[in-house]
Amino acid sequence: MPASIHPCLSCGACCAAYRVAFHWSEADDAAGGTVPVDLTLALRTHERAMRGTDAVSPRCAALAGTVGVATHCSIYDLRPSPCRAVQASWADGAADAQCDRARIRHGLPVLTPEDWC
Ligand code: SF4
Ligand code: SF4
Repeated sequence: MPASIHPCLSCGACCAAYRVAFHWSEADDAAGGTVPVDLTLALRTHERAMRGTDAVSPRCAALAGTVGVATHCSIYDLRPSPCRAVQASWADGAADAQCDRARIRHGLPVLTPEDWC
């Protein structure tokens, strides 16, 4: 994989693998919130989730493109904290369990240190 192409841009698996839940105050109907509330749904008492992720086959409503081919987050600068916590494996010198599980779920090979050379 050419080092100039970030692996996430041809993946998107973690945006279509998990329920993405966060405190309601991260939505933009709360003071200081950033996540467009229309892209979320109410979950438990204090939580909202990204629309589309609370499903048996999750896919975030903010994900654009085709998983495993070309994807991007349409609200990247506004995304909630769980999304910011996921790191592509070996981007910072270590594997990330969520990244690996998501890629395996979508039939993609897990990333290795060589993907960053
Ligand atoms: S963090 Fe991992 S699973 Fe998520 S888009 Fe990047 S490479 Fe894919
Ligand atoms: S908000 Fe963006 S980064 Fe987070 S799951 Fe949705 S598409 Fe992925």
